[in-house]
Amino acid sequence: MPPEKAPETGNGTGMPARGPTKHFVGIDSGSWTTKAVVIDETGTVLGSAVVQSAADLTGASARALEQAASRAGVAFDEATIWATGFGRASIEIASGSRTGLDCHARGVRHYVRGALAVLDIGGQDAKVIKLDEQGHRVSHKMNRKCAAGTGSFLDEIALRLGVPVSDLGDLASGYREELELGSFCTVFTATELLGAIRQGKRPADLARAAYKSIVKRVLEMAQFDRPVVATGGVIAHHPMVVALLTEALGRDIVVPPHPQEMGAFGAALAARDAASESPQHARG
Ligand code: ADP
Repeated sequence: MPPEKAPETGNGTGMPARGPTKHFVGIDSGSWTTKAVVIDETGTVLGSAVVQSAADLTGASARALEQAASRAGVAFDEATIWATGFGRASIEIASGSRTGLDCHARGVRHYVRGALAVLDIGGQDAKVIKLDEQGHRVSHKMNRKCAAGTGSFLDEIALRLGVPVSDLGDLASGYREELELGSFCTVFTATELLGAIRQGKRPADLARAAYKSIVKRVLEMAQFDRPVVATGGVIAHHPMVVALLTEALGRDIVVPPHPQEMGAFGAALAARDAASESPQHARG
């Protein structure tokens, strides 16, 4: 069969005009991990990936993008890519970007309606974003200064207890005694922990105490006066945090799908929404 005649382009380049993209990618360059999510026009997640950020943020975003696109079966050079997160400026392939606050709120709103508080606990920060009934941001609180109340606190505790952070939850689930860690700061907590180990305290009980400590710090950040939707790596990988928060607040906490990738998902939604508002700028 003869090749089909290329459609009239009218774009002056001699190349066929590409229609608006059907796939959207969000990349969230975080301090600990870089996440990529590929969605279609309905917001359905087709593929996602989480890789370590380490020092090469650009390389991490390229790896996350490749993995997510391959899982989605989508050619990423035909998708519209937007970025978010603290390293978003390093993602040169992105044609647009949004703040983490915007993307987390947008991602969560895709799944949960009504007035709510988004609680995101990542590697080096924790944030609480309050949304009203219409999804407008009414306030936000950010803890960036202190590792207590963030994932790096758990990373430090796991290191001190001699287990990978991925095993901390299993360790803590074998607790027998309820202990409290009194120190506020992560460094002092590590010292306190060493003292407790010397006194013969059980690692399982100390791991449980560390979870209680992180929850205490998070609860100090804001008044949780509305339904809470929780996201971030700590929520995704440490169910004891969710259980303790639920107990402390006396209300259920909603954990949406792919909680660790919520910022990346929100960035992909932002790309899609921008394309539908302004199709001629669909590729940025
Ligand atoms: P950021 O977006 O700030 O880079 P994340 O939302 O990915 O961070 O959360 C990172 C935190 O989540 C880490 O500090 C760690 O405590 C926890 N975490 C991430 N991956 C895992 C894992 N596989 N097992 C246990 N904990 C994890």
